[in-house]
Amino acid sequence: MTDRTVLNDAAEKEYKADCLTCFGLCCVALPYAKSADFAYNKDAGTPCRNLQGDFLCSIHENLRGSKFRGCAVYECFGAGQKVSQVTFGGRDWRQNQELADEMFQVFPIMQQLHEMLMYVTEALSFTENRSLHSSLLEVQSETESITFLAPKELLKINIDEHRAEVNELLLKSSKMVRSKFLPKDGQEQQVRGMEFIGAKLAGKKFRGKSFRGALLIAADLRNADLRMTDMIGADLRDADLSGANLTGSFFLTQAQLNAAIGNKQTLLPKGLEMPEHWRR
Ligand code: SF4
Repeated sequence: MTDRTVLNDAAEKEYKADCLTCFGLCCVALPYAKSADFAYNKDAGTPCRNLQGDFLCSIHENLRGSKFRGCAVYECFGAGQKVSQVTFGGRDWRQNQELADEMFQVFPIMQQLHEMLMYVTEALSFTENRSLHSSLLEVQSETESITFLAPKELLKINIDEHRAEVNELLLKSSKMVRSKFLPKDGQEQQVRGMEFIGAKLAGKKFRGKSFRGALLIAADLRNADLRMTDMIGADLRDADLSGANLTGSFFLTQAQLNAAIGNKQTLLPKGLEMPEHWRR
């Protein structure tokens, strides 16, 4: 693998939010707390005050400037449209209030399932983990089947158990892709919880490192070498990636990039776009 392989068009569409066919589920089902990311407190199941009658956001064009930065970096991975149009067959929670609670409970589960599917699809595009492809295809098909279950059945699945099964394959795939950068005994040092929050890492060389779940909040990663890194679940809020090289890094999402700072000199893996606020 010389660079992150772009997800094919169908997968790209399936695992990307389509707000026009969703009933604003993330803006109702999920809670948020007043913070640097949200302007006020909202309970789960209560519509956000910015949600319009047509299920679109009235401040969509200026989420950051309106103190709703948390929304600008959220990604449902296509779960919103799936729950709205497939699981509940196009019935919305305003017209069908008896479905609302169930719909709001199903949504976060579907979000996790779609996130897993996106990573598994990406792992299937690697060549170094070919020996895992049949297991990945199996878990992909199993996960896909779950996403088509009826709401009551979906609510019964043990999502943690399923995630653990998927994670094991993603971890193995990551090591295979990064094998030439790992220590000879294959035992790499794990990034510890908070060690990178606000860390001064400008110009450092991290090629082939795993940042799985790392808290890189406000880390200074300007001009850092982040090629071929595993970025799954890394928290990049306000991390400064200006001039950094992320070529070939994988399990990196657009939402993670949207949460970070960067500039026109930042090199990105194929298939990801430079966030608008990096252009200013
Ligand atoms: S601010 Fe907009 S995107 Fe965020 S929760 Fe409210 S309606 Fe949804």
